[in-house]
Order: sequence, then C-alpha cells, then structure tokens
Amino acid sequence: MAFIPAIEQKKLSEQADFQWEKLGPALVYLQQHSPFYKRLFRQHQFDPKALRSWQDFNELPTTSKEDLQRYNTDFLCVAPRAIREYVATSGTLGRPVSIALTQNDLLRLAYNEYLSFHCIGATEHDIFQLMLTLDRQFMAGVAYYSGLSLLGAASVRTGPGLPAMQWDTIRQLNTTGLVAVPSFLPKMIAEAEASGFSANDTTVKKVLAIGESLRDDQLRPNALAQQITRDWNIQLYGTYAATELQTAFTECSAGKGGHHHPELIIAELLDDSGQPVIPGEQGELTITTLGVEGMPLLRYRTGDICRGYYEPCSCGRHTMRLGPVLGRKQQMIKFKGTSLYPPAIFDTLNSIPAIREYVVEVSTGADEQDQVSLYLYSDMDPASCNELLHPVFRHKWRVIPHIHYCSAEEIRQLQFPNHNRKPVKFIDHRTLF
Ligand SMILES: [Zn+2]
Repeated sequence: MAFIPAIEQKKLSEQADFQWEKLGPALVYLQQHSPFYKRLFRQHQFDPKALRSWQDFNELPTTSKEDLQRYNTDFLCVAPRAIREYVATSGTLGRPVSIALTQNDLLRLAYNEYLSFHCIGATEHDIFQLMLTLDRQFMAGVAYYSGLSLLGAASVRTGPGLPAMQWDTIRQLNTTGLVAVPSFLPKMIAEAEASGFSANDTTVKKVLAIGESLRDDQLRPNALAQQITRDWNIQLYGTYAATELQTAFTECSAGKGGHHHPELIIAELLDDSGQPVIPGEQGELTITTLGVEGMPLLRYRTGDICRGYYEPCSCGRHTMRLGPVLGRKQQMIKFKGTSLYPPAIFDTLNSIPAIREYVVEVSTGADEQDQVSLYLYSDMDPASCNELLHPVFRHKWRVIPHIHYCSAEEIRQLQFPNHNRKPVKFIDHRTLF
C-alpha cells in the first residue's frame, strides 16, 4: 500500500491552515538565523510576529536566483560544523549556487523522495537503477538513493550513459525500475534492438523520469514520451525538482502533474507583478521551504513557468499538482508574433526522427526582434531534410527559423562546451534592452 501522509488527503483549505501553523515559526527562524533575511526584513520593516493572513504573506518580498548567487553565504542559517553536505546547482543558467545541508536536511531530503517513490507505486521489492550522477555535488542522486533506502528498496548506482553496461546490469540483477533522463531511453531501446533483444522482454516496468518534461501544456504525453512508450511498454513518471527547493513534485499513476507535499514546501504561482495567478493560469513557481535548517528560502522565484491543478486526484491525494515546466521565465521567445518557450520548440524537434541532435539558439535581429536558429545533426542530406522540416515548422510556428546542419562532433561541442553535467540545448544570445 502506498503511504499517503494524512494531511495530503485533507481539503486544500485544511492544507493551507496546516501550512499557516508552520509558516510563523519558519519566519521567526529566518529572522533569527539568516543574515540575508534578517537584513531584508529590516529593510522592509517586517516583523514576522505581525503576520496576520496569507494576504500579508503575499505582500512579502520575493527572493531571486540572483540574490542566492550574489549573497550565497548570507543564506546560511547554521554554524559550519552543523553542515553534513555541500551540494551545488548545475549552473546551466549563470554561476552555480552552493547549498549546505544539515543532518536533518538530509533526512528531510530522503523523506521527500520516499514520498516520490510512493507516488509512483514503488515498493520495498523494487530494484532501482540510478542512471544519474551521484557525485559532482549533484543533489538529486543522493536524494533518490536515500529515498529508496528509506523505502526499503534496492539501489543500483550505475550512473549516466553507457547503454550496453546499463542493460548488462538490468539483466544480471533483474532491475524493476529506472531513475533516468527520459531522452536517454531511446538510446536504451536502440541498444537492445542492436543487441538482438526487446526492451519489453526485460524486468524494467517503470521509470522515474528526471530533468525533462514528459507532457505538454494539456498534460498529454509529449513527443519524447510518445516515442519512448511506442517502443517500450513501460510506465513513465515525471518529476520536477530543483536543488534550491530540496523538494520534488512527482506524478502518480494518474499522470496529471507532480504532487505537491504541503508538509515540505509552500508553493505559489505568481504573475509578472508578483501576484498569485488565477488557479489554472500559468505563473512562475515560487516556493517557501518548510523544515529546512541549513539554507531555507522564503518566496524564492524559481524562474520556472508552470500551471497548477487543484481538483482531488484519483490516487487519493488531494494536494495541488504541478504541470510540466512550460519554460524559464527569461527564456520566453517572441517569434514573429508568437510567444513560445524553448521546451515547445524541443517538443517539435523531438517529434521528428530525422533530427538526431539539436541546439536552439535565439539572438536579437537587426529589427530588434527575437531570431531563432536551429543547429541540427541529421542522417539525411540537408536538402531532403529541409524538404521534410519546412512544412512542419510552417505549420507549428508559421515561420521557418534559420537552419544550420552540423556534424556529430560539432553538435557535441555545442551541447557540452564546458564539460557541463547536462547537454546545452538552448543558447540565448539576445541583447537585453
Ligand atoms: Zn495522484
């Protein structure tokens, strides 16, 4: 039986009351221990004890990623000797941020993924292959590992890449689940085919898919998810997490967005003026951590644009669910009158098998408009590939971006310029006005 905390089965209004009780002490803790928030509260003449309503909370200043980059150590609330682990953000966008965790924070992190694994129906009988980095200060690897340990399931730390090795291990240990980046799964399918067996004939039944969305804005499986499940009869579960949050939103089998855990985090979706959006509208995910000791955050703007879903879920959890990340706030592209985020472009490119790898670049044109260039690696010759792509792009975006064809080596250099942990798929060269 899946474990569902009692509060997650209560009405949203009761969840809000529950969070309200936790919020007061969290604000007092920040005022007492966080140099950054102590200063911020003083500047805004804010006394946590004077907070009377959620309305008051909505008036509090937000914290940005730039704040965390600029004043990184001022966010630390504990003495250095209380720190058990230092992790860092990937630094895909700007300077990496260091996050320090205490022993309790590590336990909280484990509990958070314990809840995620319950969401995806994992049990103590499962064997999960962790196809992601567990070193290089990456928090997620440790989070899944400790969550599985708390669940009583087994972990196999194979790390990322190397499809042949992954299959050898799966077949040797009868692995039942994977934690993997979904765009790696087509490579697993191809490797199985090349080796003369079908992925369907193996023991793997479910994948916790990290780092990339599986759904479009209507919660339908996107091109990548369709491509995977067409060739491999497995259950894909999406999850959203970011290092700063120390918390994940993971889908259940209903597949209607990632479940919020009210005991761990306060989640808001805000518009450009910092006000909560109307439920169902897209907004910037803004979070307040609960129960974090080392580097707690108050109204931290993640930069990720999402929608919330609020009706009770068929799994028995009544918590808000977070839809896929539609894009990063700063990455919105105004493309000849159409507004879109890079993931929508990725989804179109992923739906075209002839495109093996890609990088999307946006720059500012002479007319001061956003200009999109695609760097593509394809097995097809450029002329036939253009013939295939132009109608698709015209249909989807009404315009055809600049297309540059690259060799495998050229695209690899674009995707991994500085030995990045994750491939770069989007390059923003726009001038800021
Ligand atoms: Zn559910």
